[in-house]
Amino acid sequence: MYRSHNCGELRATDSNTEVTLSGWVQGVRDKGFMIYIDLRDRYGITQLYFDEERTPKDIIEKAQNLGREFVIQVKGQVIERASKNPNIPTGDIEVLVSELTVLNKALVPPFTIEDKTDGGDDIRMKYRYLDIRRNPVKESLIFRHKVTQAVRNYLSNQDFIEVETPYLIKSTPEGARDFVVPSRMNEGQFYALPQSPQTFKQLLMVGGMDKYFQIVKCFRDEDLRADRQPEFTQIDCEMAFVEQEDILNIFEGLTRHLLKEINGVEVEKFPRMLYDDAMRLYGNDKPDIRFGMEFGELNEVAQHKDFGVFNNAELVVGIAVPGGNSYTRKEIDKLIDWVKRPQVGALGMVYSRCNEDGTFKSSVDKFYDQDDLAKWAEVTGAKSGDLVCVLSGDKNKVRAQLSALRMELAERLGLRDPKVFAPLWVIDFPLLELDEETGHYHAMHHPFTSPKPGQIELLDSKPGKVKANAYDLVLNGNEIGGGSIRIHDKATQAIMLKHLGFSDEEAKAQFGFLMDAFEYGAPPHGGLAFGLDRLVAILGGQETIRDFIAFPKNNSGRDVMIDAPAPIDDEQLAELSLKLNLKS
Ligand code: ASP
Repeated sequence: MYRSHNCGELRATDSNTEVTLSGWVQGVRDKGFMIYIDLRDRYGITQLYFDEERTPKDIIEKAQNLGREFVIQVKGQVIERASKNPNIPTGDIEVLVSELTVLNKALVPPFTIEDKTDGGDDIRMKYRYLDIRRNPVKESLIFRHKVTQAVRNYLSNQDFIEVETPYLIKSTPEGARDFVVPSRMNEGQFYALPQSPQTFKQLLMVGGMDKYFQIVKCFRDEDLRADRQPEFTQIDCEMAFVEQEDILNIFEGLTRHLLKEINGVEVEKFPRMLYDDAMRLYGNDKPDIRFGMEFGELNEVAQHKDFGVFNNAELVVGIAVPGGNSYTRKEIDKLIDWVKRPQVGALGMVYSRCNEDGTFKSSVDKFYDQDDLAKWAEVTGAKSGDLVCVLSGDKNKVRAQLSALRMELAERLGLRDPKVFAPLWVIDFPLLELDEETGHYHAMHHPFTSPKPGQIELLDSKPGKVKANAYDLVLNGNEIGGGSIRIHDKATQAIMLKHLGFSDEEAKAQFGFLMDAFEYGAPPHGGLAFGLDRLVAILGGQETIRDFIAFPKNNSGRDVMIDAPAPIDDEQLAELSLKLNLKS
């Protein structure tokens, strides 16, 4: 038996018990006539004690030769400590060691296995198995486990069945590139790894599995923007015989359950916001509503003066920065530089100070009088002491820019408290989105999303205006879930694919299996998927998802620990009938 107890469980009440412990050497303190060792495992740290008088000499010698991270087993007696350590749960006791076995030696670790380590990101990723021994990573993985358990319990209790779907499939369009896998047995043919189990979960509905979920890996070959992973996990769900309302209620219930179970937070019924309103008020389809600073559109009150910049703009829009009148000229100039950075891309920023005495002082006083500026304050909701920041230009661009500024200012003002949770549904997304580069429309969610009833006729005349039965669940400025009511008849699916630019043959080749299934009694259905990594990070009060993933990839999509991806040898290539044609 390697251990009778773990390193986190012994207390004063265990005094005089003979115990066996196993674990890693966190550190050795050799005081000559007595030696202390901190023994660590997943559960905690227990102090081991050796003294000249009571411990056999050979054991003392063995203890003196232990290095950090050696794996050892000890037997000994639990004794109450003379000087107790109130900072750890086992701090009242220590184990007086009578036997010591080295189970395995360890090289000196390349960084310290401490909460605050001296190791940088790269080295910790290369030795991720050592990083996992550190509390912050270990705790994050345990936290993730708690969340997934709570999800499974909740959904199982609501009659959902967890069904696994295959990974070796064919393209499921979720808007990214596919990762592909060559098939040895089918020369020249490839599987695609699922960007999501979308088509399979719909087929499960046709199969009568009317409540499905799966905690599942999805694969998307995207240029890795900050904090994305090429493989990530979804809580994927689908239901039959439901309307949008049913789905929102069930998954609002799940989210509320998680907030309560995991964070001990009770939240009110989630507000619902139309996509158009989210864009108008926050410039963003995933608004952070933990704080106000809503947009005020100023076209009516700021155009038709003599200020050409505003007159020529599609949209003039501002926000009130609480207390912003206290910013110095220099600070405001810095803010202007900030919005002009290429990442934000504004051409400039106009501002108006709301003085305590009720007067205004703007950067465009030449064009606007006090009455005009009072209207700006009114529309943006600015009070005296605030600063109104105004951007102008192309509607979509300027909304995105002001949204970036709003988030940045809120961060600086400490309004984005990770302990406050403000979920909401954003509903009625457009069905299609115009790709500015190609001039083509593509599905905003995915091609299986149904248009709102009665709107399919608009597809020909005003494709951009058609709204979808699609919804996102947003938490603290992050999209944590999204889904839709699906098309469930072949004719509508065919119309949709035609509008997305698929010829009949292409539609049949790619999605024939789904459309065929729709001809065998497909029930009305819909669902959604949560991004588990992000959800866990937000519930855990963290910004990045990486610590909640045991073996994440870096920003170039590499696993630096196992060194993947890697070339394969000629024999394997030949077996797969593949030849390389490298660009570099
Ligand atoms: N498959 C969708 C996604 O990955 C979710 C859904 O529509 O259920 O975003």
